[in-house]
Amino acid sequence: MKVRHLNCGTMSAIPGLSLVCHVLLVETDNGLVLVDTGFGLRDCADPSRIGPTRYVIRPALAPNETAARQIKSMGLRTEDVRHIVVTHFDMDHIGGIADFPDASIHVTADEAYGAMRNPSRAERIRYRSVQWSHGPRIVEHRPAGEAWRGFPAAQSLDEIDPGIVLIPMTGHSRGHAGVAVDAGTHWVLHAGDAFYHRGVVDGRSAVPRGLRLQDRITVFDRKRLQDNHNRLAELYARAEPDLLIVCAHDPEMLAQARART
Ligand SMILES: [Zn+2]
Repeated sequence: MKVRHLNCGTMSAIPGLSLVCHVLLVETDNGLVLVDTGFGLRDCADPSRIGPTRYVIRPALAPNETAARQIKSMGLRTEDVRHIVVTHFDMDHIGGIADFPDASIHVTADEAYGAMRNPSRAERIRYRSVQWSHGPRIVEHRPAGEAWRGFPAAQSLDEIDPGIVLIPMTGHSRGHAGVAVDAGTHWVLHAGDAFYHRGVVDGRSAVPRGLRLQDRITVFDRKRLQDNHNRLAELYARAEPDLLIVCAHDPEMLAQARART
């Protein structure tokens, strides 16, 4: 499948460091698929949708960065986006779902529970129900079966395409997941916010202090987040030629992914 790497939301959470919202646009036999959305046109028009956190993460909210505008500028149709797979429901990942009202939203059942059904106090702050108030079709998944490159459970989303796999990576949030996409010559593993900076997995680059702090503030389960860091670092160290690991917010990883494709 053809995979494009988009930035759907520049953020200036940390002085001197610009973050991106790395979104995958996938062309399948079953229409277009997005992995995460970043911010959307409605967020740009009304930043209060993001809540007070916007003063911390400081998103640019530029309409031209939204997935909807970028898809149109490529000559593609937003109506052809039939499925959106989200790593989790944080505001910087699902703001754009409202721009694709007919798309089904795929998420883990645990994430849907924490965001939509029974949020804790902390979850009520991090999630913004206004971003799904348009009433999209939510498809909940409980990956339990097959293992995927060291992760104990994964699920091919056959309803969309067997080359799209949901991989639970609980820790950052209650039901956070990675999404692997078969790009033909290689797989892209979008690890969402399982880590914020390439230094966590490559063991070489220094992780900015502000990002380490952010990691600790936003975490739902620290032990499991650490387990994910270890597993992803292990996978990265193996340097498998048919695997590209990216996360949501590292601009350098976005640039590397674009260079590869
Ligand atoms: Zn995020």
